[in-house]
Amino acid sequence: MNLVDRVLTIVITATITSAIWIVAGGSLIENATSISQREATRPAEAAPSPRASNTVGTEQNGAAEAGGLNTSAASLPDERSARDLMVPVLNVRPTDLSDTFSDSRSGGSRLHEAIDIMAPKGTSVVAAAPGEIERLFESDAGGLTIYVRSADRRTIYYYAHLDEYAEGLKEGQRVRRGQRLGAVGSTGNASPDAPHLHFAILQTTEEASWWEPANAVNPYTLFTNR
Ligand SMILES: [Zn+2]
Repeated sequence: MNLVDRVLTIVITATITSAIWIVAGGSLIENATSISQREATRPAEAAPSPRASNTVGTEQNGAAEAGGLNTSAASLPDERSARDLMVPVLNVRPTDLSDTFSDSRSGGSRLHEAIDIMAPKGTSVVAAAPGEIERLFESDAGGLTIYVRSADRRTIYYYAHLDEYAEGLKEGQRVRRGQRLGAVGSTGNASPDAPHLHFAILQTTEEASWWEPANAVNPYTLFTNR
């Protein structure tokens, strides 16, 4: 290969590479797979699954879920993240919400540490904040659930009792705030008469796995105090 050919080869390679970046860039952003690849190496059975807990019966408004969370008060996410949150059920306003965060669950043995957003079955559940789908998990208590993790890995948004996942939703996928994740339902131990989204915001650490205990912060406060 003479010099001209070499230079030509380099130019062509660089051009193709740029084109690939331009074409693939958007979808790469939407489909980061780093976490899903890590998760894929751990068998599902290995997870202690605190949220697959053995809570019995249903609650007052049909919820029952997430056991094993720390009950200590956690600091609120910074102002910016609070401002960026949206109510994760379509057409529900902050003023429609009830503060059920401190309600007892499981006969008083634990606190709810989440809010229940009541809505007709099938209403769209949307991402309260951007992040990456870390886990799609089905548990006895939570039914069909989604764990979305923030880009800094320190916040997990937990959605439970879904009727279904949005078509094509998969672990490792990046989601935008407001993106449809699924539909409101009453899977798990929610009452079929009171479909709702159980929604929790968990402050965790970068290293902690999705199923490890984390500090719950009150979504109601974040939705209404601004
Ligand atoms: Zn609940």
